[in-house]
Amino acid sequence: MNRAERRRKAKATKKKPAGEERTSAPRLDIDQIKGQLQQAASPQEVQQFIGQLLEHGLPQAGGEELIAYAAQYHEALAALNSADDAASVARLVNSAHAWADDRIAQSSECDRRACKAGCAFCCYLPVVLASAAEVVHLADWLRANCTPDELAAVRKRLKARREQDATNSPAQKRLPCALLQDDTCMAYDARPFKCRGWNSVRLEACEQAYGQSETTTPVPVDTFAFVMGNAVLNGLSDATRNAELDGGAYELNAALLRALDLPDATLRWRNGERLFDGGR
Ligand code: SF4
Repeated sequence: MNRAERRRKAKATKKKPAGEERTSAPRLDIDQIKGQLQQAASPQEVQQFIGQLLEHGLPQAGGEELIAYAAQYHEALAALNSADDAASVARLVNSAHAWADDRIAQSSECDRRACKAGCAFCCYLPVVLASAAEVVHLADWLRANCTPDELAAVRKRLKARREQDATNSPAQKRLPCALLQDDTCMAYDARPFKCRGWNSVRLEACEQAYGQSETTTPVPVDTFAFVMGNAVLNGLSDATRNAELDGGAYELNAALLRALDLPDATLRWRNGERLFDGGR
């Protein structure tokens, strides 16, 4: 069953009357739930299991999150089992990003989002997290899409950020991501899940957070988009772990510098090496 069919199934689940959803108090262990979803032999089994959870009190939004997670998990694992060259890693990550974008675009809050081209308050952060698969893919993407001068400039910014990270106090650590160029993400098409899923619904809150160093000023975000970005990321990460690859999350700037220093980073990751330990 492909993703379009899974989406139709998801919609069918969504139509259940709310009154039928709470037959008893939910006693849910997320690891057990994920384990069952991973063991499911077919999308029908996934759907059946999630249907049971909904009947026992799982909120509808939780059901949609699990559907996105399971769809990505099974697709990623099948892809990892069918090919192991560098090109397959690009297909794996691109497909996962496309699936996340598809889910994120289904949010009912799309019209409320304050994000627009040239607005980059959220790209000034002490930490930008990305999965190992995304990092090696991003390094390949930069090599393929940047001129030598652009690549050299990115490396320079990555090194500068590494030095600032090592010397600045926590209060000074609201640093620009090294991929930010003229307030635009130069790798927008390959940006990590965390960036895709982060969509503010209040510009003033972004401005305040930006002006307050590392202080955690709450920024209201499109919750559905945030949850879906994480659900697809978790599906990909769990599939890579179960394929005995590095499914960890790392600080993007530090890990990207390392990946750019290793011309064969993607193949090494695909062969099971842990390239970024220490940068987590
Ligand atoms: S990867 Fe791009 S979108 Fe994400 S923080 Fe860096 S510049 Fe911003």
